[in-house]
Amino acid sequence: MKLYLILPMLLWCLISSAQKYNFEKEYKSIEPKVIDWRRDFHQNPELSNREFNTAEKIASHLKSLGIEVQTGVAKTGVVGILKGNKNGKVIALRADIDALPVTERNDLPFKSTVKSEFLGQEVGVMHACGHDTHTAILMGVAEILSKNRDKIKGTIKFIFQPAEEGPPPGEEGGALLMVKEGVLKNPDVDVIFGLHINSATPVGVIRYKSEGLMAAVQRFVIQVEGKQTHGSQPWKGIDPILISAKIIDGLQTIISREVDLTNEAAVISVGKITSGVRFNIIPESAEMIGTIRTLDYNMQKQITERMKEMVPDIAKAYGGTATIEIKSNTDITFNNPELVVKMLPTLKRVAGQDNVQIQKAVTGGEDFSYFQNEVPGFFFFLGGMTPGNTASFPHHTPDFSIDENGMILGVKALTEMSLDFLNN
Ligand SMILES: [Zn+2]
Ligand SMILES: [Zn+2]
Repeated sequence: MKLYLILPMLLWCLISSAQKYNFEKEYKSIEPKVIDWRRDFHQNPELSNREFNTAEKIASHLKSLGIEVQTGVAKTGVVGILKGNKNGKVIALRADIDALPVTERNDLPFKSTVKSEFLGQEVGVMHACGHDTHTAILMGVAEILSKNRDKIKGTIKFIFQPAEEGPPPGEEGGALLMVKEGVLKNPDVDVIFGLHINSATPVGVIRYKSEGLMAAVQRFVIQVEGKQTHGSQPWKGIDPILISAKIIDGLQTIISREVDLTNEAAVISVGKITSGVRFNIIPESAEMIGTIRTLDYNMQKQITERMKEMVPDIAKAYGGTATIEIKSNTDITFNNPELVVKMLPTLKRVAGQDNVQIQKAVTGGEDFSYFQNEVPGFFFFLGGMTPGNTASFPHHTPDFSIDENGMILGVKALTEMSLDFLNN
């Protein structure tokens, strides 16, 4: 074929693939709405398991679109079920809706001045993790898809999840409770997609990683028992502070000498030590609290087993005793490799080839992992940083902010991933 024929054809292919569903008009008209919703949520943030007004706004939006709505799921969660005109598979799209006990320091017209009570303290409340953008993005996706049922072969579940940051102590909540209450059943979900806006990723960019993207978070408590004595006569007692030091040292050798760090990263951190009352008493006991972060279940098993062996053994070597208790806070945000391969062309089409980049593993946690324990899932990062602004502030801080121009790509990605998955 002649070159003058090939070039226009190539160009045509490029244009038609960039606009597979011809939603350019829809995206243009939804963007200002998404920004307005986000500003409203930003100005009126609510803490985990207390997202009452947020849930009401979401539910009334979904109802206005003719979507079947369930409320009060896992306390304040909202679930929308949208059936396409043809039968097919079921996918779920998830947005988290809660804010944090942080006092906002940004100078914005829609800055949060909300105050609330958290653990008996008065605190400022702020969408300092960007969940306001997730909620607004998913409301936009729901609006576009609800007006295009003829293009949907199957069912889409919109999951608006409370308490991602963790329910208050003593309460259940978040993704784990949603799963427990059967959010992935009836109709049974085949795959789930979710995203997180990121203040260090430029607007227009999507970052992803196959397999372990975000870490499993475990919390451990170590109790060390020694024998109390005068500070001047250590030979008459057993020093639990010295034993604690040896234990910390030993635990770090699990990371540095025993696990294969070329596979995935892993972290053990002791965050708190409590022991003793004054300078001249060797106390009776010590307590240490810390966290374990892993991105691979085999490594998690190896690390926790070795900690359970090592802690009592080290204490015994110095004449004391020690116990360790390990509890899971979240599991590994594990992206199903086949699903990632399947959905990458969609992400590259909506964002542009060069704007879909590989993300390094993150040692922070995300409770989206509980959905991924049940069904294959794909969770990725969406750029929310003004390009060039490398001084952007991290999530969970009073100065955290998001460039709203990044949100529309989230709408495009989730809309087209849904249609591509269901129609192929
Ligand atoms: Zn967060
Ligand atoms: Zn978050």
